[in-house]
Amino acid sequence: MKSTTIILSITLALLLSFHGIVLLTNENLFQCLSVHSEDTSISEVLYTQDNPLYSSILDFSKQNLLFKAPKYPKPQVIVKPFHVSQIQTVLKCSQKHGLQIRVRSGGHDSEGLSYTSEVPFVMIDLINLSSINVDAEKKTAWVQAGATLGQLYYRIAKKSKILGFPAGVCPTVGVGGHFSGGGYGYVMRKFGLSADQVVDAHLIDVRGRILDRKSMGEDLFWAIRGGGAASFGIIVAWKVNLVTVPSTVTAFTVTRTLENNATKILDKNLASTGNLIWVSNQQNQIQQLQIVVQNAKHI
Ligand SMILES: Cc1cc2nc3c(=O)[nH]c(=O)nc-3n(C[C@H](O)[C@H](O)[C@H](O)COP(=O)(O)OP(=O)(O)OC[C@H]3O[C@@H](n4cnc5c(N)ncnc54)[C@H](O)[C@@H]3O)c2cc1C
Repeated sequence: MKSTTIILSITLALLLSFHGIVLLTNENLFQCLSVHSEDTSISEVLYTQDNPLYSSILDFSKQNLLFKAPKYPKPQVIVKPFHVSQIQTVLKCSQKHGLQIRVRSGGHDSEGLSYTSEVPFVMIDLINLSSINVDAEKKTAWVQAGATLGQLYYRIAKKSKILGFPAGVCPTVGVGGHFSGGGYGYVMRKFGLSADQVVDAHLIDVRGRILDRKSMGEDLFWAIRGGGAASFGIIVAWKVNLVTVPSTVTAFTVTRTLENNATKILDKNLASTGNLIWVSNQQNQIQQLQIVVQNAKHI
């Protein structure tokens, strides 16, 4: 009985002291943020664990539901900046108070790297930095990192029927993580990866500087297009080249049995992803050919 009481007291003491440390760190962090912020509204974009909105904001874009389990570490503070300067302030103050940073754009990271960490951390959620500026004449677009692929496709389609962008199939994937990891999709065979079409970027480096392609240099610019940008800084926006696509896209499904040449067709077109094969005809029209191989007995 006595030993149970001692264990309970120790556990409680540890819990309280940890809670105390968290509160102290948060207090210092807030103080730092208000001192260094040029923008008085910074407190409005911070969500601590006692905020009633904290859990819904944290879980909102988590695609891997495993990480909703309570055992996974959560950020001490979530920041949803509206301005780039707010990111710079958070970076400076997190460094000062020994907190790591996790950056989240679309939240589709399978390992939860954008919203979990083994050490105390702040999560910067870029959902509010999602503006998209399409220049149809120059066939380019500036897209902020918090935008999703679906938003990008939609904005391009609003501006032009013959422009598109080669990226993934899932509309809720964020461009922040997607382009920095490569980004492949249906039109990859014709236009390559998303990263191949990135021509400039705005990145905040560890010193809080905003760099573009010229000031970051070609080596870093190369690395953030495939190497996972979180290793190098925080991407604020990408400039991408748009690609010319036909205004009409034809999609069709061809079903063949083994008796009528299924294997030959497969052989001919096998350089595909899964069972989806994309073909361009002479008019540059993109056509989808889906091959379904079935045993004739079951048809
Ligand atoms: C349902 C689903 C469908 C998918 N479909 C495709 C597909 O068709 N094609 C394909 O190629 N991939 C696909 N993926 C994989 C997806 O492209 C990657 O997981 C990508 O990294 C997700 O980016 P995100 O911004 O949504 O994720 P996040 O979880 O926000 O970020 C992923 C990683 O990038 C970092 N990061 C995010 N934003 C920034 C930033 N602004 N600056 C620096 N680092 C940043 C994060 O810290 C994290 O390490 C899919 C994933 C899922 C879950």
